[in-house]
Amino acid sequence: MKIAVLPGDGIGKEIIVEAQRVLLALDLGIAMEEAPVGGTAYEACGEPLPKSTLDLCKSADAILFGAVGDPRFDAIPRDKRPEQAILGLRKELGLFANLRPATVFPELADASSLRPEVVAGLDILILRELTGDIYFGQPRGIHKVESGPFAGHREGFDTMRYSEPEVRRIAQVGFEAARKRGRKLCSVDKANVLETSQLWREVVTQMGKDYPDVELSHMYVDNAAMQLVRNPKQFDVIVTGNMFGDILSDEASMLTGSIGMLPSASMDERGKGLYEPIHGSAPDIAGKGVANPLATILSVAMMLRYSLDRLAAADRVEAAVKKVLATGLRTPDIFQPGTRKVGTREMGEAVIAAL
Ligand code: NAD
Repeated sequence: MKIAVLPGDGIGKEIIVEAQRVLLALDLGIAMEEAPVGGTAYEACGEPLPKSTLDLCKSADAILFGAVGDPRFDAIPRDKRPEQAILGLRKELGLFANLRPATVFPELADASSLRPEVVAGLDILILRELTGDIYFGQPRGIHKVESGPFAGHREGFDTMRYSEPEVRRIAQVGFEAARKRGRKLCSVDKANVLETSQLWREVVTQMGKDYPDVELSHMYVDNAAMQLVRNPKQFDVIVTGNMFGDILSDEASMLTGSIGMLPSASMDERGKGLYEPIHGSAPDIAGKGVANPLATILSVAMMLRYSLDRLAAADRVEAAVKKVLATGLRTPDIFQPGTRKVGTREMGEAVIAAL
């Protein structure tokens, strides 16, 4: 197995090193090949996503990504900006499924804006379809209304649409992910109002018959938004479309209160994925050795589970992170009185020791 390692910009370089060291410590015989991306790549060769980097990603079994973004390149043309690299990778690799876990380690439950007992031990996965829905549907535009009460005024319109194969492939990722976790899948839609959602629900229900070991439920998106703050622990895996997932995944990540702790994955149809922390390049703390590497280390665990099928190794990494938090070590972003403040390297070393 070979993985492509793209550290990127800012703290990306610091946190990726720790994740690589964790992977080496597991001794799984996985080869790692590094390539530039984002501002670093633009500086070196004038492109945020050089062809050589893309080729490496295409030939790898999975991609481990740090973060991109550098204020020095804020003024350059949009298509050369570091952040374009992510969009390019998603498009070129056909990454249509976005997996965002929201996990609250009991030791960090105080960081949430919700009461600790509501979120302590939370472990849910939001699965968002990334390439369809109202964000991409045609027709779309702004035109002048020709008749009716608003005639003569401008009107904006977009098209929500999902084809059966698109629903089927994201639902399949949902069922398979649920199988690797708590075997519960909640499909979120708005089937009481939208035809797109009616078809979505029909297809997911039909597929549920092939997964008798997974408990399937359906929920309207407005109720799901409410249930996520009322009782988020009722969920295991949530699968939903692009727009509902956009909103619900941000809501869910904020339940945890700590951006430096959350991993994510974007996957293609064959289970190949790009794994990255949900945070950006954090220019305000870059180079200071204080960034929290745990989101990236937990991204390695996701990579082992979802792309490399090394479930035991994934469990080991997550258990090691839990153990380190239980000993009271904290990077500054999750520091609380009574715990011990450490830097990026020391946190990485503690995880390796716990392994
Ligand atoms: P950010 O996530 O980089 O930082 C937001 C805040 O969280 C900052 O105060 C930062 O110090 C802190 N933070 C983030 N990660 C941390 C970590 N691991 N440990 C400790 N603290 C951490 O978001 P931003 O400041 O809005 O964006 C900075 C740059 O990153 C921009 O160029 C943006 O476009 C880019 N960005 C990239 C990605 C990506 O690569 N996928 C995602 C989001 C933002």
